[in-house]
Amino acid sequence: MNKADSQRLGTALEQLGLHAVDKAADADVIVLNSCVVRQSAEDKVVSHVGAIQPLKKQRPGRILALMGCMVGPKHDDLARRFPQVDVFMRPQEYAPLLDLVGQSLGVDWEGCIGSLAPTEPDVTCYVPIIHGCDLMCTFCIIPYRRGRQVSRPIEEVVHEVELLATRGVKEVTVLGQTVDAYGNDLPDRPDLADLMTRLNDIPGLHRIRFLTSHPSFMSDRIIEAVANLPKVCEHINLPVQAGDDEILSRMRRPYTRAEYLDLVNHIRDSVSGVSLSTDIIVGFPGETEEQYQRSLDLVADLRADKVHCAPYSSRPGTTAHRTMEDEVPHDEKTRRVKQLDQLQESILTEINSAMVGQEVEILVEGRRKGKWQGRTRSNKLVFFQSEGDYLGELVNLTINRASPWSLQGELVSELSYLASRGD
Ligand code: SF4
Repeated sequence: MNKADSQRLGTALEQLGLHAVDKAADADVIVLNSCVVRQSAEDKVVSHVGAIQPLKKQRPGRILALMGCMVGPKHDDLARRFPQVDVFMRPQEYAPLLDLVGQSLGVDWEGCIGSLAPTEPDVTCYVPIIHGCDLMCTFCIIPYRRGRQVSRPIEEVVHEVELLATRGVKEVTVLGQTVDAYGNDLPDRPDLADLMTRLNDIPGLHRIRFLTSHPSFMSDRIIEAVANLPKVCEHINLPVQAGDDEILSRMRRPYTRAEYLDLVNHIRDSVSGVSLSTDIIVGFPGETEEQYQRSLDLVADLRADKVHCAPYSSRPGTTAHRTMEDEVPHDEKTRRVKQLDQLQESILTEINSAMVGQEVEILVEGRRKGKWQGRTRSNKLVFFQSEGDYLGELVNLTINRASPWSLQGELVSELSYLASRGD
């Protein structure tokens, strides 16, 4: 979400005549977009602000902006801590900086800025469709920083994706903290399935993904859309967060382990070849060894294609911070993360090894270390070697090597998307 926000602010600044430079020292405007979901991320932001402050002293006319989750509705404290920062902006709140830049250029920015869709996007592009979140998981700071759920109107999103497709984008990932809750705050209550049905008709667009889903909102309509719409990729990120019902309840996650597993089975029965990824927090306040073992068992049962495991980090302002003691020692959290990661690595070794010899379709996203790279519809990262220019193309590869984190393939033939879809 932060990447998408940065890109959109960048587009707005470009429309005011600014352009990106490689080094902060060469910039007239420096924007730091912050994530404070964990303490380590917040520490990084603080150290970056510290590193940038001397640049402001060197050239006082330079504008420094701090944006993102670190900035709440009130930021007097931040202003005291970081006196060199000229402007503080909450996530997706671009106006304060645009006002300042507009003033320094002597232009009315509101008259200059149109769509925030990137003007020179990559082959794949993020498109935020919901801002904020209406749930209040006890460990999470996001609703306090990004606010309550606001869905963008369906026509606005469709128009933006049409524009992106004309600019060469082949794959969009529509984003929301609870993306499957899309539309429930809009007048006619369209849902994510309605939106994806509209996006599926956009010429030139090859693939549609969505991120991140919440188990409570994953409806049959959305599952059917994933199963039936040709451009919607068969990959669902469905964070579970814990394998123990008492911990789930104290996290204020409104489902049980059994309900989550039932939903996963239903998705797997309905969507052929679907891949699943999930998030797990270990060391939540009061998590016993037994409760942690239930998360470990869940990972073993789930056999997901990706598990993002993070140690619990107490965030001031959250319910968990106010009411629960962060009592699992740091070393114990680290042990649990490591053990869970090792288990997932062995599962992925098996899943990916089974793909050797299979033919897969990938969308080529770019080059890295002399190889082309892209992703399967199930979101597996694949590399292949070729002298041809395949950027933005759908190609078929035979997988010939696998590791837990990526696959290597050999080109079978370039696919014509329209021909392959009979379109
Ligand atoms: S659903 Fe996600 S963003 Fe919303 S409160 Fe829970 S963890 Fe945070």
